[in-house]
Amino acid sequence: MTTSASVPAHSDADSDAAIAGGSVTDRLVEANTRYAAAFADAGLDSRPALRVAVVACMDARLDVNAVLGLANGEAHTIRNAGGAVTDDVIRSLTISQRKLGTRGVVLVHHTGCGMETLTEEFRSELETEVGQRPAWAVESFRDVDQDVRASLRRVRTSPFLLHTDDVRGFVYDVKTGLLREIDPA
Ligand SMILES: [Zn+2]
Repeated sequence: MTTSASVPAHSDADSDAAIAGGSVTDRLVEANTRYAAAFADAGLDSRPALRVAVVACMDARLDVNAVLGLANGEAHTIRNAGGAVTDDVIRSLTISQRKLGTRGVVLVHHTGCGMETLTEEFRSELETEVGQRPAWAVESFRDVDQDVRASLRRVRTSPFLLHTDDVRGFVYDVKTGLLREIDPA
């Protein structure tokens, strides 16, 4: 993810106007009409063809299918802020493996993640503002390599997963498009 303080990599008058006019969703719906007109994937199985699940950050610059060369129907993709392996990600991975036949797990975090700019103090800020402390951890981090290692451990030690022998973690470089694998040791 990126924070609101981040400067967009690109912006043009058309998209600014669309955002200002509140018509972003309309644009997406129009795009869907074109997508459906050319749709040819009606025969896909709900079980991912490559039997792999990807857990990735929600960052807008991380096009998971493009980065990994994935086609529709080939993988599960689970995303959140930071690509954190939360209880809910374990829930999805458990269903992915036990009900939909996946085996491998690929974690993709990235350079320049907005989670590096947050701290757990964010929860206190929220509590001050709204009068309620969130139950969830912020899952902020300072060292992306260490964060991937911690995430690898959470997947590998989960008692709910059937397959933890093929779990690999990577940092995606938003400046080059390249993945760098993280040694779990
Ligand atoms: Zn991120």
